[in-house]
Amino acid sequence: MKCPVCGTSLTQAKYEGVPIYHCLECRGFLASRSRAMGIRHKADRSPEILLDEAKTQLLADTRKTIRCPTCRDLMRKESIPGAAQFKLDVCHRCDLIWFDGGELALFQLAWEASPQGQESAKMQERHQNMSDEERAQLEADIDALPRSSLLGSLLDAFRPPDDGLD
Ligand SMILES: [Zn+2]
Ligand SMILES: [Zn+2]
Repeated sequence: MKCPVCGTSLTQAKYEGVPIYHCLECRGFLASRSRAMGIRHKADRSPEILLDEAKTQLLADTRKTIRCPTCRDLMRKESIPGAAQFKLDVCHRCDLIWFDGGELALFQLAWEASPQGQESAKMQERHQNMSDEERAQLEADIDALPRSSLLGSLLDAFRPPDDGLD
């Protein structure tokens, strides 16, 4: 199966233990909707790792319409919930989602920043377990991002409350 963006052969990979297709060239991921939701509900990658992944792999959001690598139909653009500026490419017939480089990390961060995501017990636990150093590093990473970007405001939403969680 070929990458719908750059045509490179896709590699089978595992992301947080979930089987997924990956393009080593443009760093995109292809997953069924159910697998993507499974990844979103896992908390294997810390917010710091996701931030780093989003920042280093977010090369370009594909603006052109691409074709599903399985059925060749045109894929539809769908906003990432909570990060509407970023568009995923979806094939409804095959129930496949294409994530451009970094978008899978964003997809998870946006979920974790959402009220639903924050209710997740794992997330609460992770916030509580974050050391002062880790918290400071996360805030420094967030401060280093351009304020004007929507990614910046997304990450602001993710900023832990100042008064702590005790
Ligand atoms: Zn590619
Ligand atoms: Zn398809």
